[in-house]
Amino acid sequence: MNSADIERIVKQVIGEIQGAAPAKKSGGAVPATSRVAMLTSLENFDIKEYPIPPLGDDDILVKVEGCGVCGTDAHEFKRDPFGLIPVVLGHEGTGEVVAMGKNVKKDSAGKPLNIGDKVVTCMIFKDNPDITMFDLNKQNVGGADVFGLLPDDDIHLNGWFADYMVVRGGSTIFNVSDLDLDSRILIEPAAVLIHAVERAKTTGILRFNSRVAVQGCGPIGLLCIAILRTMGIENIVAIDGEEKRLEFAKEMGAERSVNFKNYKGIEELTAAVEGAFGGYAADFAFQCTGSPVAHSNIYKFIRNGGGLCELGFFINGGDATINPHFDICAKEITTVGSWVYTLRDYATTFDFLKRAKAIGLPLEKLITHRFPLEQINEALKTNLSMQGLKIAIINE
Ligand SMILES: [Zn+2]
Repeated sequence: MNSADIERIVKQVIGEIQGAAPAKKSGGAVPATSRVAMLTSLENFDIKEYPIPPLGDDDILVKVEGCGVCGTDAHEFKRDPFGLIPVVLGHEGTGEVVAMGKNVKKDSAGKPLNIGDKVVTCMIFKDNPDITMFDLNKQNVGGADVFGLLPDDDIHLNGWFADYMVVRGGSTIFNVSDLDLDSRILIEPAAVLIHAVERAKTTGILRFNSRVAVQGCGPIGLLCIAILRTMGIENIVAIDGEEKRLEFAKEMGAERSVNFKNYKGIEELTAAVEGAFGGYAADFAFQCTGSPVAHSNIYKFIRNGGGLCELGFFINGGDATINPHFDICAKEITTVGSWVYTLRDYATTFDFLKRAKAIGLPLEKLITHRFPLEQINEALKTNLSMQGLKIAIINE
């Protein structure tokens, strides 16, 4: 055996080692067309097929792996409040980069972006494509455009309820290859709670080991509990009317729970919440339901000098009655509202999801129903029927 033979064998062995765990450089062949779920009339999606267009120099083609169904999608499905029909919905999506224009090198946080990377999108700033996440440190992004809530155009691949999506220049995109699929589907809703907790922290009242009440244990309240837990806040009481959701709240990190259906009147309920804190009112409360009565009630659970973050009213749920004397002035309660998130919150969310996993919080259990794209009408109906928690469309 001469040195050339040895070199050949070494190369072959190295090749086999690399072949066993190939560095993914190509997303495979890109097909000519993509399916999309197009909402064509109220309560009706049609699966349509469109050509995948040639990419511009700043565009990215993403093969969709999955997308959560949001309350916003359900409102649009039921009533079209944004007047978008026909529209490809789905904004809580994630997938793999399979092709990109020559100008694309990095994501919105400055991380390198390559074919094969897993990504999520955030807001689209078409009027100011130079905007970066760090300019938006204090500004929330409510009102900006997002993929999945765009009017239909001649590209059509505008939402995550599809096989492929074209991310156009001017959109924010994040490389989240270090997160698994379930975590990536939860990024958008979790960012809403990261923002709420950041808002809560501005009061100076929410601290390590505060007594915190979380009212409402849908996906939003449950994520709120998980975030508090990852921050080292353990004295959490969850409040809801569904025993199953309260059980879930404990898995997410709540220490105790109160089922409001077991108590008559606000005095009894307040006593139950204080009892759950060992005889104390809460230092801080998060209101995570869209119920005006729940808003009225929550002040009673908070101690003098305590704080409140209201984040439940993504749509107009009507007026709530409070007694300004007892509820706000005499107690000196500091209240903050919370709405959507900032790009900075998005980056924080990636870290939260890793930390939650590291301390054993079973976030993936929040995704209770999974449907293929062709069953999207059933997926939306399941969401509207209020069964389960997070419903997701998962592509094979
Ligand atoms: Zn959403």
